[in-house]
Amino acid sequence: MQRFEARGKRIETLESIDIDFLIRLTQDLVRIPTQNPPGNEKSCAEYIHRTLSQWGVETKIIPEPFRHRPQVLATVSGREAGPTLILNGHMDVVPEGSRGHWKYDPYEGVVEEGKIYGRGSSDMKGGLAAMMMLAKLLREKGLPRGKAVFQFVIGEETGDPGTKHLLSILGNKGDFGIVLEPTSLRVATAEKGLAWLRITWGGKPAHASVAEQGINPIEKALKAS
Ligand SMILES: [Zn+2]
Repeated sequence: MQRFEARGKRIETLESIDIDFLIRLTQDLVRIPTQNPPGNEKSCAEYIHRTLSQWGVETKIIPEPFRHRPQVLATVSGREAGPTLILNGHMDVVPEGSRGHWKYDPYEGVVEEGKIYGRGSSDMKGGLAAMMMLAKLLREKGLPRGKAVFQFVIGEETGDPGTKHLLSILGNKGDFGIVLEPTSLRVATAEKGLAWLRITWGGKPAHASVAEQGINPIEKALKAS
């Protein structure tokens, strides 16, 4: 087990983790269907907010950018001022598709041979559970300095402005940030992006008997594809 040193104070964070508790927490999250589309994150946001509040973690619901799809922000402040670390995880999952293709109910969270089966158990209800657990531990044991901010966001699967809204509109920024997407514990410092382009090609109409006098824009588009 690993120990973290912080200004001479030993934080036995990992040693404090109750694995069974963490598994149950992940199962609870998997059992809340948060398919996106259409964007069913609300029940999950309410669960996270309620649970963290019960644990004494400073937590608030953010009904933005969509009122019916709230996000959750939690904060643990250190005893001394210092840098802010943001942990980020999305609540939505890709719809489960045909149930016939699932060995287990996608929203049951069955544990078999050391694995949790269910939609989003890896991407990323497991990550959310880890974030919640860390918030709980830091709240109980105290954070020596700085601030830990936990962002539970909407709309990652469809590119909705969940995280973007927290960062750019609400200014919920930090000095460091970790997105808890599953990478098999490999640190990923970059990701592929997505860009939508709208391109217009002009053509020139011509009668079929003199087609060579016209310009077919589809032929131009083919070269660009
Ligand atoms: Zn993901």
